[in-house]
Amino acid sequence: MSQNALETGTAEADVDVDSHQDSDVMVEVRDLRTYYEGDGLFGGTPVKAVDGVSFDIKRGETLGLVGESGCGKSTLGRTLIQLESATGGEIRFDGTDITMLSGTDLKEWRRNAQMVFQDPDSSLNDRMTIGEIVREPLDVHDWKTPRERRQHVKELLDTVGLQREHYYRYPHQFSGGQRQRIGIARTLTLEPEFIVLDEPVSALDVSVQAEVINLLEDLQEEFGLTYLFIAHDLSVVRHICDRVAVMYLGNIMEIGPTEELFSNPANPYTHSLLSAIPEPDPTAHKDRITLQGTPPSPRFPPSGCPFSTRCPARIRPPEYQDLDNELWHQLDTLREVLRERDRTEKSVTDRIRELLGKEPHFGTIDEIYAELFGDQAVPPAVEDVLDDAAELARGGNERAALDLLGAEFGSVCEGHEPDGAAEADDADAEEPVEPDYHVVSPSGRRSLCHRHDSDADYRKPEHVLDDRHR
Ligand code: ADP
Repeated sequence: MSQNALETGTAEADVDVDSHQDSDVMVEVRDLRTYYEGDGLFGGTPVKAVDGVSFDIKRGETLGLVGESGCGKSTLGRTLIQLESATGGEIRFDGTDITMLSGTDLKEWRRNAQMVFQDPDSSLNDRMTIGEIVREPLDVHDWKTPRERRQHVKELLDTVGLQREHYYRYPHQFSGGQRQRIGIARTLTLEPEFIVLDEPVSALDVSVQAEVINLLEDLQEEFGLTYLFIAHDLSVVRHICDRVAVMYLGNIMEIGPTEELFSNPANPYTHSLLSAIPEPDPTAHKDRITLQGTPPSPRFPPSGCPFSTRCPARIRPPEYQDLDNELWHQLDTLREVLRERDRTEKSVTDRIRELLGKEPHFGTIDEIYAELFGDQAVPPAVEDVLDDAAELARGGNERAALDLLGAEFGSVCEGHEPDGAAEADDADAEEPVEPDYHVVSPSGRRSLCHRHDSDADYRKPEHVLDDRHR
C-alpha cells in the first residue's frame, strides 16, 4: 500500500478528495462519458457504457474499480488510456487533457500509460519469441539501439521474475502465471507511470494469483507506479487497493479509502455488493442485502438514480411508508417484471419475431397478479391502482400501466438524479463541474444516494424496505 493511502485520512482531505489543487493528483477525470453508438435496429440509441464519472487518481496509489459485469469498468479503463475515445468530458494527466491529443502527441503520451489484460493467452502472440513480444513497444518507438533494446528486455525479464534465457522461448512454453509476467514485462518496457490492470489475476489459478499480486505490488514500489485495478474479486481489491470506486451502470456510486468503504459502506449498492462476499466465519453477524433482478441495459438506463430499479433501500412515497414490507416488495417485483417485458420487446430477437409476424410469448397480466398477490392482503387504495394498471395492460398498453405504477409507487429515487444536476448548469463555475455527491466521511469518501439528503441511515430497520433481505 502506498504512502499516499496512509495519509488519506488527514484533515485536508476533509474538504474534497478530488480537490483540483491537490499536487499529488496524477489523473483528473471530469464528467467522462464513453458511449458506443447504436446501429440500425435500435435507431441509433447508444450504449452508455460510462455515463458521466468524475474522480482523481493520486500519484503512486492503487485505485480499485469494482462492480457487476457490464457496468463499464473495462470501458472506463480503456478510455483512460485512450484505447477508446471519450464521447464527452475530460481526462487530464498532469494537467494535459489527453482526450484532445492526436497523432504524434498521442503516440508520445501513450508511453506513459499502459494496460495489463485479463487473459495472458490471447494478449501474447504465439508466433513471436518472448524477447520479440516484450521488445515490440521499444521497436515501435524506435528506442535506442537494437543491442540496448535486447539488454533492456533481458533486465525486465529479471525484474518480473523470469530468466534472461527465456528471451528466445515461445509463449506456449510457459504457464499462465509466467505468461502474465511476460505481459507485465511488456507493459513496463516504455517505463510508464500509470497502468490499468484489467482483471490481471482472474484467469490464473488461485495458487499463482498471490504471486502475481505480490509482483505488482513490488513493481509499484520499485518504479513508483500508479494503478487503476479493475477486479470483481473483492478480497483481492481489499488487499491491494488504497481507494476503491464502486461502479453501477456507467456511474460511480461510491468512492473512498478501501478499509473504510469495506467496513462501513455508505451506499446501498456498495452494501449489496459487499454483502455477497462469503463470510469466513459463518456465525459472524452480517447485514445481507440480496439484489433483485438484473442491471438495466446501459442503452436504456432508468431515470433518476441509476440504481433505483433494484435498490432495496429505495425511498417510499410518504403515503406508503407503513405498507407491509412483503407487499411493497411484490409491487417492486411487478414493476420489474413489466420493465423487463418492456425491455425484452426492444430486443433483437423480438424485433425479428415481429418482422416474421410472430408475437412474443408472455404470460398475461392476470397470471402475473395471481403469482405476486394471490396470497397477499392488499389494501383498497393499492388495489385500485393495481386494477387500473391491469386494465391498461389487458388493453395492450403495458407501457401506460408501467407509467401509472411509477407515478403511484415511484419516488424521488426514480424521479431525480441524486443531487447536483442543478449545479451542472452553473456556467459561472470556475472549477470543472462535478456531480454533487454527498461526502460521507472525514476522509472525503463520496456516495451517490438520495438517502444521504436526510441524515437517515438507510440500514435502520425502518428504512430497509424488504426485511427478508437483511
Ligand atoms: P465491465 O468491464 O464492467 O464488464 P464493459 O466496459 O466491458 O463492462 O461494458 C460496459 C457496457 O458496454 C456493456 O453493456 C457492454 O455490452 C458494452 N460494450 C462494451 N464494449 C462495447 C463495444 N465495443 N460496442 C458496443 N458495446 C460495448
